[in-house]
Amino acid sequence: MLIKLDVTTGKHTEMKDITRLIQKAVTDSGVTDGVCIVFVPHTTAAVTINENADPDVVRDFTMEINKIVPWEDGYHHMEGNSAAHLKSSLIGFSEQLLIANGRLVLGTWQGIYFCEFDGPRRRKVYVKVMEG
Ligand code: ZN
Repeated sequence: MLIKLDVTTGKHTEMKDITRLIQKAVTDSGVTDGVCIVFVPHTTAAVTINENADPDVVRDFTMEINKIVPWEDGYHHMEGNSAAHLKSSLIGFSEQLLIANGRLVLGTWQGIYFCEFDGPRRRKVYVKVMEG
């Protein structure tokens, strides 16, 4: 079963916590033990797992990734968003998660983040939940 979720971002660069959204998809699937793949079908967005306790972590994350890949740097891509394309590939388009007793297996401080690099936009996230 392939689940398609809608995610709306509100900023140009943003890490949006989608843990509850993914957990709901897992719960709705009825799978209690298995694997969950989260896939972002975009070229200027990504998905990652990181700390969800202190909001300054994602604040620092976005601050630093904007330094690593500056928005303007003499890029050639005509659309003008090469930085977003680069950041997406750096962070990656998918995550694999484990499911046990109907819950995502995450560390105490871990959350799943949708990473927007060229927002705000309406985005999609695909979730595949497999028993096993
Ligand atoms: Zn582009």
